Amino acid sequence: MTTEPATAPRTGAVAALADTLTGDDLPAYVYDLTALAEHAEAVRAALPPAVELYYAAKANPALEILRALAPHVTGYEVSSGGESAHVREAVPAHPLAFGGPGKTEAELRRALKLGVERFHVESEHELRQLAALADEEGRTVDILLRVNLPVADDALGAAALAMGGRPSPFGLDPDHIAERCLPLLTPGGPLRLRGIHAHLASGLDAPALLAVATRITDWTRNLSARHGLRLTEVNVGGGMSVDYDRPDSRFDWAAYGRGLAEVAERNPELTLRIEPGRALTVYCGWYVTEVLDLKHSGGEPFAVLRGGTHHMRTPAAKGHDHPFAVLPADTWTHPWPRPGVRDEPVTLVGQLCTPKDVLARRAPAGELRVGDRVAFALAGAYAWNISHHDFLMHPRPGFHYVGGGATG
Ligand SMILES: *Cc1c(COP(=O)(O)O)cnc(C)c1O
Repeated sequence: MTTEPATAPRTGAVAALADTLTGDDLPAYVYDLTALAEHAEAVRAALPPAVELYYAAKANPALEILRALAPHVTGYEVSSGGESAHVREAVPAHPLAFGGPGKTEAELRRALKLGVERFHVESEHELRQLAALADEEGRTVDILLRVNLPVADDALGAAALAMGGRPSPFGLDPDHIAERCLPLLTPGGPLRLRGIHAHLASGLDAPALLAVATRITDWTRNLSARHGLRLTEVNVGGGMSVDYDRPDSRFDWAAYGRGLAEVAERNPELTLRIEPGRALTVYCGWYVTEVLDLKHSGGEPFAVLRGGTHHMRTPAAKGHDHPFAVLPADTWTHPWPRPGVRDEPVTLVGQLCTPKDVLARRAPAGELRVGDRVAFALAGAYAWNISHHDFLMHPRPGFHYVGGGATG
């Protein structure tokens, strides 16, 4: 488990750098840009060439990450005015798709100014607002309507799961698209309907996501035929599963790619697009820190780490025990015995004065002593950027990018 190579920083570069970081250099985020590029290249290779791969920037919008992905992705999905401007500047040659609920007028204007290539429209009101702004600027804008489509996954038999179609702030009900939106999209108007977007759930395996892709493309083809729309694009979303309990496992991109090839074959008029976030970048990042204190309370050991969930909120947000590796450090200069545990499940907490600041609960850690370093794996997505950095005013972590021609 925790001390197996599964979660240990695998590449020499990350392990070597982690070794040089001590004391106030910690905590630190270390990103392996070579591993990221290799992973993205493998994902790209598993997909049919005609399928467009967008990266959902909200998973990790760091400049270095966006740029390392650039050779392997078609474009980027952005979810705010801030992301639109940031990603446009980081990777100016790549198209942007702007989605997300509650787009403000200022954000829409900014996106129009930036020449965002696709708008994912989330509501009837947003459709009217975007049309008015595009009209005002004398622009024709390409849009996808986001649908909240019910999907029953028959492919999984007994394990069938249903998703989408529940009341949700995201996207439009299928009938509202036909009855309320299509009448607003007149030929020659400021908005050009290119197709349909859907992102119905996160954490799905390849069979479930293929059922989603099939359902969305079938629905789009029927809508297009019924209304004579000649739609040409379907974005079937992201949500590829990442298993924090089995950090060595990966989403089955090969099976997904084969399935998408079949979907594409049945829909030659539609360009298929996907927009994963987590499953692209999560594996390239590490949150490295050290044990500041170790004590027993009520018979159970607690290791207090430098840093905590204000830097890496992921385990608190998702309610899991975050995978980690222990990097033993053999310096002990104090005249008193070094606090430590051996082969006793230990709870790893941070420095925050709240019982929620837990990174892993009763986790097997082998031997763990004050001064040992702990490297949390799967910290490349929804980690630093979803965390409440300023709570308690501890210092921020260091940020290091290794490999991929990065200069640290
Ligand atoms: C968050 C999001 C994604 C990416 O989801 P992951 O689970 O990170 O793959 C894709 N599309 C939309 C619309 C999103 O909101």
